[in-house]
Amino acid sequence: MPDLVIRNAVHDRTGQRVDVGITGGVIDAVAPDGVGPGRREIDAAGALVSPALIESHFHLENALLWDGAINHSGTLEEAIRLYAAIKRDLTPDDILRRAALALRAALANGVLWMRNHVDIDRVAGLHILEAILPVRERFRDLIDIQVIAFPQHGMARDPEVVDLMWRAMEMGADLVGGMPHGERDMDDAARQIEIAFEIARHYDADIDMHIDETDDPYWHSLEILAEQTIAHGYQGRVTAGHCCAMAAWDDAMAARIIDKVKAADLHVITNAPINLHLEGRGDPQPVRRGIARVKELLEAGVNVTCGQDDLQNMFYPYGRMDPLEVALITAHAAHLAAPGEIQAAFDMPRYHAARMLRLERYGVEVGASANLVLIDAASPVEALRRQPPRRAVIREGRVLAETTQCVEIDPSVDRILS
Ligand SMILES: [Zn+2]
Repeated sequence: MPDLVIRNAVHDRTGQRVDVGITGGVIDAVAPDGVGPGRREIDAAGALVSPALIESHFHLENALLWDGAINHSGTLEEAIRLYAAIKRDLTPDDILRRAALALRAALANGVLWMRNHVDIDRVAGLHILEAILPVRERFRDLIDIQVIAFPQHGMARDPEVVDLMWRAMEMGADLVGGMPHGERDMDDAARQIEIAFEIARHYDADIDMHIDETDDPYWHSLEILAEQTIAHGYQGRVTAGHCCAMAAWDDAMAARIIDKVKAADLHVITNAPINLHLEGRGDPQPVRRGIARVKELLEAGVNVTCGQDDLQNMFYPYGRMDPLEVALITAHAAHLAAPGEIQAAFDMPRYHAARMLRLERYGVEVGASANLVLIDAASPVEALRRQPPRRAVIREGRVLAETTQCVEIDPSVDRILS
């Protein structure tokens, strides 16, 4: 007898009505004609059964840092300044408290994997990492958190930060991060990327960098990152987040660099909600959207995913920790409206992100880990349009969260609406 049976679900890939049987944390039946009784049963009532969602790019340490740190200009520069002024004083207890609130919301929305950037610099030292590593351990049975050592203020000319980055990896950071456009110029950006590869290769770690998060077309770290990825044989192991300067490049430059991104098998994360908010601040009309060229990247066959990045803080006042909301905003910002494009948007925080994380056994199929979310929608477009409650969130066969929504319309009103 299966431990858990999900009845009357719609398969996220085939659109077929299926029952899903789960035993020992693994899917052992996906059956259109039903499976036998389980120890526990959930009636999906026509909800989509999907592999669980993935938050590709987040910062737990400064989530919900809102009070007293208001960004009046709304720019990235002011946000970084405001954050730098207070990050030394963040305590482990406070980081844990806010991280737990963000993770609770993410989990209820079906997020079971997260990539999290942790500031490593002269101001933060290693003390934020020291607070975040226990967060990763504490929530290990609920969500997989990958920690990225993130030298937000550059390292090309700062041996002390390079040393901190090595120590961060030694302490247990999972990936090497970066922010080449935070350096003085493109030469230093290239140097930062070189150092990142040196560290990553030593630890056999993947790389995930904040890339060209600026409206200034001078910055093209993405090109260097792609070239270095190929030179180091790191294809498929390197991710570029943000990539906003792409929106400022001319088409010929963009085409040239997108070819290299494809050849290097880079993964691109667009952080559309936050970048729509932060970029283009200095523009006269027409104001640029300031996000990665999602449509062209998808057309070129590049793996594109999307990330929340920030939750109600000096960088971004909004957010719900719902990858479906991020995908919907991405779809608006990137003009994704054709059926294939809608499917791509829906796949960004799912299959595309799983490819970035190199997850195996991801999907609703026999033999896959039972990491699932029931989305109360009949199709991808409905999932994005309504971002409905997640009927159930299941991790290795264990039901972690269930959400129901109850709307009561007065019978007299219902008669008119019906
Ligand atoms: Zn970020």
